[in-house]
Amino acid sequence: MITKMEDKKVKAQLLEIYNLLFSKYGDQHWWPANTKFEVIVGALLTQFISWKNVVKAIDNIKASNLLDVHKLHECDIELLKELIRPAGFFNRKASILKSVMTFLVEEYEGDLDKMFLTSLDVIREKLLKVKGIGPETADSILLYAGMKEIFVVDAYTMRIFTRLGLLKGDEKYHQVQEFFMKYLPKDVDLYNQYHALIVKLGSDCCHSKKPKCDKCSLQDLCQHQAL
Ligand code: SF4
Repeated sequence: MITKMEDKKVKAQLLEIYNLLFSKYGDQHWWPANTKFEVIVGALLTQFISWKNVVKAIDNIKASNLLDVHKLHECDIELLKELIRPAGFFNRKASILKSVMTFLVEEYEGDLDKMFLTSLDVIREKLLKVKGIGPETADSILLYAGMKEIFVVDAYTMRIFTRLGLLKGDEKYHQVQEFFMKYLPKDVDLYNQYHALIVKLGSDCCHSKKPKCDKCSLQDLCQHQAL
């Protein structure tokens, strides 16, 4: 059982990590998109692929004047596959995009403001029932498009916080999410920036095979350093 004293220590550690990352990398300006709908499309396309390829796919959709929930809902799926080909897994992703558009149109008449007026728990449960949407994608949509108070967990979060010694490494998604949401202040802007900074550190230094610990601003806190 974690004592009150340890509780305080974990809270302080999480904020210290945040401050070190923010000092090094600054505001990440997430999510890189102009509209809520663009956030949703980006969150669906970014699975298993680097962001630069997602940008190419979104640019193709924009160039075809299809970055709109009703237009994507109605557009031919073969055309959609071609447009999103740069984002990889285009058969699967086109099918997921179509499922999500159908969900948005049928549940909310394509009105994202209407969707995000619904409570966090209700939308999350509905999103998780849509084909191809897992917790990380649902939470990215809720936090970055809906400004909802939910912490996003990804593979970088697991790797970095296990190496730091704050996770064991075998936790499930919801357990890691509960950990952050228990110890961090409830603050949408903090959740937004914290996840973005974790992704930045993961892509910059904390690689799976050979982490670049010598350039990491968390090296004094990290247990992996001592191995
Ligand atoms: S010190 Fe190394 S292992 Fe630890 S978080 Fe930084 S890059 Fe990752």
